[in-house]
Amino acid sequence: MGYRDDKTWPDRKPSALGRPLGRGDSLVDSGTRRSPFVSNRGAALAFMEGALEGWPLHQLVTWIDQCLIRPGCLMTRYPFPRIFINEPDVGVISYGPPSTSDAPSTFLPHAKATELIRWSRKKVAAALEGMLRASPDDRFVQAALYDGRVSRTTGRNGQRGWNVMLTEEHSLSEQILALFAADLLDHREDYEQHLVVCESCEVIDFWPERLSRRGCPAHPQAVVSGSVRRITLSR
Ligand SMILES: [Zn+2]
Repeated sequence: MGYRDDKTWPDRKPSALGRPLGRGDSLVDSGTRRSPFVSNRGAALAFMEGALEGWPLHQLVTWIDQCLIRPGCLMTRYPFPRIFINEPDVGVISYGPPSTSDAPSTFLPHAKATELIRWSRKKVAAALEGMLRASPDDRFVQAALYDGRVSRTTGRNGQRGWNVMLTEEHSLSEQILALFAADLLDHREDYEQHLVVCESCEVIDFWPERLSRRGCPAHPQAVVSGSVRRITLSR
């Protein structure tokens, strides 16, 4: 996972918000020489776990800062913490000191953030679930490559990898899917063999010892039954 070594780590102080993430320990890729570093998979899984727990807005903002902005994956129109978060089926949230040019009525109330986060997660989970099928459906990877959210990169040491480059125009679900897509391109077997989408609790994980790809360690019995309950995108 050394492919991000070619990126410059912004010399910034710790997050002004400073609140811990739900899965803090798994965020740091200990395999890199540069610190601090958040792997694409660690970042994406932290979001999936936090969203399942019902993250409020401030925790999403902390995650965006630590996992997208600091690693240089997300270009924002204004300096952090001014950010916009959108999910087309829900709306746009504006966070941070307002700009005089912004019309407040065009944005969702912050109380709606958890709903937006849950909906984004559901879209991501539905896309990932495609990898569990007999003929894996990786269209989310093709989409991320096609619109430039993920692209080839070559590090200073010549090692090739995948670069994630996002803007606030990309929906939150597109941002998360880009992280998974970049990870999949380096670790396709993990997604085709070990990815688990639990049909009981909706946990997403990688679990080589799994009995079923639709049962997490807490619900391994969601096992070998023939019936498949797919994630449906209805709100
Ligand atoms: Zn489960």
